[in-house]
Amino acid sequence: MNVAIDGPAGAGKSTIAKIVAAKLGSIYVDTGAMYRAMALYLIRQGLTPSDEDKFSETCKGAKISLRHEDGVQAVFIEDENVNAYIRTPEVSNMASVSSKNADVREKLVSMQQELAKTTPVVMDGRDIGTKVLPDAEVKVYLTASVECRAKRRYDEMMAKGEACDLKKVEEEIADRDYRDMHRENSPLMQAEDAVLIDSTELTIEQVADEILKLCN
Ligand code: C5P
Repeated sequence: MNVAIDGPAGAGKSTIAKIVAAKLGSIYVDTGAMYRAMALYLIRQGLTPSDEDKFSETCKGAKISLRHEDGVQAVFIEDENVNAYIRTPEVSNMASVSSKNADVREKLVSMQQELAKTTPVVMDGRDIGTKVLPDAEVKVYLTASVECRAKRRYDEMMAKGEACDLKKVEEEIADRDYRDMHRENSPLMQAEDAVLIDSTELTIEQVADEILKLCN
């Protein structure tokens, strides 16, 4: 069984997808990490978000792969594990812009589809139910209010000791939502056959239980 979980930034997709994957004995695939690794690659090639005309050509050289060990996903550029470098605001912003590019998407989507052919997956992202795994047995569109998602991100960053401003986090999330939902290629939307879950008033366990019920 394949499970597709889509939704906007900060809705809790990755935390919940990890729990669901562990319970089902499936592999958790965080497709956002692949777009982030691609963004890091583009930055390392000297590009900025305003170099959109160079994304198609430059992305061809990116050798990105995923490896799983004890249920933990690591994303690699060639032989370098780049997990530690892909969560910065600079990479988030570049990923949100470069993921609009059709060639970037095509390259990563085909890798994601190959992965799901060989093993049962719980995959999260923006276009999993609509584009990557249209035949997934369970599809969920997980969302929450912008204020709630921003507050969760803010709390996470504060817990890590990273200073940040709640209003700014909220603005960044709203900008990313807008870009993800209004792009031409695979915009973020609820698949027709996806179940909508709003996690604003729910705990992580409640959302995970809801999804496991759908799987059962
Ligand atoms: O999920 P995460 O915030 O890590 O994703 C980073 C960026 O990658 C998102 O802002 C989105 O633009 C892009 N993305 C995408 N399609 C996916 C997963 C992520 O366009 N399936």
